[in-house]
Amino acid sequence: MKQLKLTSDNPVHTKRIGEMIGRSAEPGDVVLFTGDLGAGKTTMSQGIAAGLGIMNDVTSPTFTLMQIYQGTMPLYHLDVYRLNSEEEALDIGLEDVLYGDGLCLMEWAEQFPNLWPDDYLLVRIERSEETIRDMELTGVGAGEVLLDRVSKLLESAGIAYESA
Ligand code: ADP
Ligand code: MG
Repeated sequence: MKQLKLTSDNPVHTKRIGEMIGRSAEPGDVVLFTGDLGAGKTTMSQGIAAGLGIMNDVTSPTFTLMQIYQGTMPLYHLDVYRLNSEEEALDIGLEDVLYGDGLCLMEWAEQFPNLWPDDYLLVRIERSEETIRDMELTGVGAGEVLLDRVSKLLESAGIAYESA
């Protein structure tokens, strides 16, 4: 397990960090987001999509549950907030996209900790002030490799982070 912490003071910066995650991703990678409403999970997802070369508007999948986009690889963008049980999550095909051929992003992952795969990048976002977001990125299994690549891109862009 590897971890780093960083702060964003505006949505554009959060998207830029997301873009580095997108550029670093490999097919089969999973990014799990935790954080309250308005934390910036969808905002970061937009940056991740941009990093995969996706030009579409990426909107919150709160009501659609899952949106699929095609970039350098498929992007599966899920928001599991409205799901009431693990069974419902499995019914929408969660396992296919968690263990699939693209990058899977799951907002509100804290709802279903039992369904987390063995390999993932966990992005915890906390709102500390109106525009300040504290972020903690944790790489587990293959997620460590992804986090290593992200940290190199952060370094070359001069974005400061703290290794935890
Ligand atoms: P979530 O998906 O976590 O509910 P959204 O990304 O939809 O959150 O919304 C985040 C809101 O917070 C947006 O309105 C965005 O403009 C605003 N915001 C303000 N500062 C930041 C920041 N530093 N990073 C991300 N979003 C921010
Ligand atoms: Mg959202």
